Amino acid sequence: MVANLHRMQLPREVVVGNNTLDQIGAITKRLGFSNSALIVMGPKTMEIAGRKAMDILKAEGLKIDHLIVTSCNIKDIVFVEDKIEELKPQVVIGVGGGTKIDVAKISASHKDTPFISVPTTASHDGIASPLVSLKGLDKPYSLMAQAPMAIVADTNIIINSSPRFTASGCADVISKLTSVKDWKLAHEVIDEYYGEYAANLALMSARLMMRNARLLTTDKEQGLRILIEALISCGVAMSIAGSSRPCSGSEHLFSHALDQVAPKPAMHGEQCGVGTIMMARLHNINWKQIRDTLKLVGAPTTAQELGLEKEHIVEALVRAQEIRPDRYTILDERTLTPETAKTLAKTTGVI
Ligand SMILES: [Zn+2]
Repeated sequence: MVANLHRMQLPREVVVGNNTLDQIGAITKRLGFSNSALIVMGPKTMEIAGRKAMDILKAEGLKIDHLIVTSCNIKDIVFVEDKIEELKPQVVIGVGGGTKIDVAKISASHKDTPFISVPTTASHDGIASPLVSLKGLDKPYSLMAQAPMAIVADTNIIINSSPRFTASGCADVISKLTSVKDWKLAHEVIDEYYGEYAANLALMSARLMMRNARLLTTDKEQGLRILIEALISCGVAMSIAGSSRPCSGSEHLFSHALDQVAPKPAMHGEQCGVGTIMMARLHNINWKQIRDTLKLVGAPTTAQELGLEKEHIVEALVRAQEIRPDRYTILDERTLTPETAKTLAKTTGVI
């Protein structure tokens, strides 16, 4: 019997920089996949990066199949799994922003096939994490899948994505300021396992992002590099922790609740950023500095900027704790009623 087993699955190759997509063939072969690969992408990401990746891999002599997916629900996953079963590729390569990477990651994981992540945006930390967020399940939060074997992040491609994605990714990194606080709180109050290494890695990423946020407006390429490295470090922090704990606390619960109550939710990172402002106030940390940094990078800081009604913010705040009752956060200490939630949102300028 193995007691206290703690398994960490980490990426083996991480390549960030200009024109790194050119390396996809060499990287794939270096990892030992020289026969076949299945590329999962969306119609847009096929044009942005997928077709080029296929050409490079074919030129390296691999047999390449590809699939186009548009969402990440159970049907899409089964579709990709069936193809993996049929084609038996050595590796699955996900090319895209959030959903394409997620579909590739979880389908490959279910079929015991390695997975390579090729992000075309830097909008959240799923590009490097072992988790996926699924739509259409009773649980709105992320599930464990597998860490990518490699991450190939081409800043030349990501720099051309909408600034909204970048601002959202930045907000997702900054949100670790409160998620780590929540984790520590859970450790102190209910004696939950707390991995200091994983916690500090997530926290360091958030602090580095806060300190360098201005670069995203003055030297976009350098800023983007820091953002991508921060997102990857957050993914690694989750790999080390073996769960989303270091990177997902009360601010993420608020975002998951918004996904349920708002008719048209905003982006994941955008919602988490706004959640971080409010949860930081509950934690008594410098929420104004968080708000100002989000503003600086062009991320939303109010209900209006999220495109949501004030009522949705209040309802999501009240319901956030019940999204995942097993995850102890500040919301278990400071139970929010419609009245106190409204006050919190008002004092932080969210509504
Ligand atoms: Zn997140």
